[in-house]
Amino acid sequence: MRLADGHAHLTKLIPLGRVAARLREAGVAAAAVMVREAREERALELARRCPGRIWPLAGGRLFQRALQDGAHKSRAGGVRRFRGFAASWWGARGEKVFAELGRALDRGVFRGVGEIRLQHRGYGSGVPEMKCDYDFAPDHPVILRLLETCSRRAVPVVVHLEVDVDRRARLAAFARALQAVPRARVVWAHGGPCDAATLERMLGQHGNLWAEIQPLVRDTYSRRVPYLRTFPPLTGPDGRLRPHWRRLWIRRAGRLLFGSDCRSAPEYGCLRVRAEDMRALLAQVPEAAARRIAWDNAAALFGRPR
Ligand SMILES: [Zn+2]
Repeated sequence: MRLADGHAHLTKLIPLGRVAARLREAGVAAAAVMVREAREERALELARRCPGRIWPLAGGRLFQRALQDGAHKSRAGGVRRFRGFAASWWGARGEKVFAELGRALDRGVFRGVGEIRLQHRGYGSGVPEMKCDYDFAPDHPVILRLLETCSRRAVPVVVHLEVDVDRRARLAAFARALQAVPRARVVWAHGGPCDAATLERMLGQHGNLWAEIQPLVRDTYSRRVPYLRTFPPLTGPDGRLRPHWRRLWIRRAGRLLFGSDCRSAPEYGCLRVRAEDMRALLAQVPEAAARRIAWDNAAALFGRPR
């Protein structure tokens, strides 16, 4: 069964040839690739090297950097904190930020925008990728304008929005944003993470929301990242998909996709295991649902210019 990875990253350091090789080894037929602390051009370069197999996304640097620069900043315990939207910064620079994003999207080479980290806890420089802490309300006018910018160009946007703390308020704000821009197509990175009942409710209420599944069956993720402990287990002690997750996968098969979240070279070394685990879980739902989750949804979101 063809498998797409809806959530892969490129950093400044990772060799593109290695990423291409690992995707091939894992049997990942196509991947949505988002830059982290690297220029968007790197994703385009990877796409040139792997024709038809990379869906490059914009904004992982271009827009995230603007969120950082335009935030109220502080630093504590090795964590850089970015909170909210400084009115003076966005007043002076906002037009330029959106013009630049618009120009990037108008090139017609990017298949979406992401990963935009809206609510993302930082743990300090000792934990990989976790030195920054972000808190940006998803229903702030700046983010609504981001959703509108993407929706006008018919590209999806991948957002990272954790809801394990301040859960009720964050879900309500996310719901308001999804309602405010109904034509946006929003992919919820890691499906929150949240429990199956909450995800079911959010997907049921918002037809413009998709969610990624990040299987943590065999733990190939850094144990030093406490955030990963907030993921509800997909499988029981027998290794089978838990019944409530299985029901959700079948009922919402049109709205789910696989996301490996590979970033570093060691993580790409685990992509094969992550893809194998995803395939083993997909084998436990009817084939039509599995096919949509494995490939069809990602291909419809990122795969073809509209
Ligand atoms: Zn990510």
